[in-house]
Amino acid sequence: MRNGVLIVGGGYAGVTAALRMARKLRGTVPITLVSADDHFVERVRLHEAITSDRSISHPLAEMLAVNGVTFVHGRVASIAPGAQTATLESGQNLSYERLVLAAGTRIDTSRIVGAEHAHALDPWVTSKLRAELQSLAIRNGSVVVVGGGLTGVEAAAEIAEVHPKLSVTLVTGRQVGERLSEAAYQYLRGTLVRLGVQVRENERVAAVHPTSVETSGDAIASDLTLVAMGFRTSSVGRDAGLMVNEVDKVLVDPMLRAIGEPHIYVAGDMAKWNEPIGSPIPEGCKTAMPMAAHVADNVVASLTGGTETPFDWRDSVLCISLGRRAGVIQPMNVDGTPKSWALTGRAAAMVKEFICKGTVWSMRIERSGFPYMWPTTGRSRALAAAKG
Ligand SMILES: Cc1cc2nc3c(=O)[nH]c(=O)nc-3n(C[C@H](O)[C@H](O)[C@H](O)COP(=O)(O)OP(=O)(O)OC[C@H]3O[C@@H](n4cnc5c(N)ncnc54)[C@H](O)[C@@H]3O)c2cc1C
Repeated sequence: MRNGVLIVGGGYAGVTAALRMARKLRGTVPITLVSADDHFVERVRLHEAITSDRSISHPLAEMLAVNGVTFVHGRVASIAPGAQTATLESGQNLSYERLVLAAGTRIDTSRIVGAEHAHALDPWVTSKLRAELQSLAIRNGSVVVVGGGLTGVEAAAEIAEVHPKLSVTLVTGRQVGERLSEAAYQYLRGTLVRLGVQVRENERVAAVHPTSVETSGDAIASDLTLVAMGFRTSSVGRDAGLMVNEVDKVLVDPMLRAIGEPHIYVAGDMAKWNEPIGSPIPEGCKTAMPMAAHVADNVVASLTGGTETPFDWRDSVLCISLGRRAGVIQPMNVDGTPKSWALTGRAAAMVKEFICKGTVWSMRIERSGFPYMWPTTGRSRALAAAKG
């Protein structure tokens, strides 16, 4: 029996890759997806899960119940690229012909002094955080969100909208938001203020204490501190001896294969491609799913005698929720810079909600036989045509 394809990670990238390969291979090559979590978690909705009882997780065994796919619940402890095997923490060994790494990221708390007094927006703490926020709201307590990128902005807005009695502060070493036009930035900042968020920009956090946050300005009282200062990549690629960058992202070639390892593909937050054919590739489900679909196509091509192609993606839009009733939809240029205008307000909130729903719909659609599609620049196809 063939060893087939092994996928590590059951997030946006892993699930998309598994379903697309299953559709194309039709049970001819076994596909195994191993994930540390037995549910697919809609990470882009984590800030909603700490303020409402919205369910954001879906059983992987159910999502992956398609011809040719086996789901294994377990954490990969090590990978031996030479032997083409992965070993789980349980001791189980899994052999592969092709490996897809999609173990993603977690919120990075390592860069903050006193992180043990803070919480990160991770899937396993949502119900605890929800209960704490509810109890703090009754006592008119205070919350500080550290980090003004999109994760911090969305979390601060959601908390302030749902719990208007809480004092919510968003503190960031730069400006709030990222890669926004001036108009979108002004709207985003103004909306945070309207929701009651105290926005403290260009202020660095020195340390988190049990009841306060120490900054380069004044100390801020904080009953609950949430850290949203960027992501930390899974170390499975680095530990396997693959070429990684300074934050453990696996360096990939244009086909999304780990450099020097033709049998290992990488998709989602774990992958780092320095020379994109299209737009620069930021972390996000909006890149994880296209990369995974492309990896699936290349893996299938490599197993069936087809031709692998370079990945191409176009960053068309940045979508930000500001609570349930406002948002920003920022159209982007191909080089990753923002266009000068943006859609804002309730219409933008509706578009963002549609896009969040669309991620899960896309997986269901792929499962039903319709291929997931994404915007490209067309350069990959042009290059292939020029080569001949
Ligand atoms: C609050 C918040 C809001 C966000 N909003 C947006 C947004 O609006 N738009 C956007 O594009 N992006 C957004 N993101 C980012 C987005 O969620 C990530 O970029 C996306 O989840 C990456 O997908 P992934 O499949 O690479 O990794 P993940 O979704 O992180 O999935 C990784 C999977 O790997 C598993 N795993 C990890 N280690 C192992 C191991 N050793 N063995 C086996 N399994 C393992 C995990 O259990 C998980 O199932 C947001 C993130 C957060 C936290």
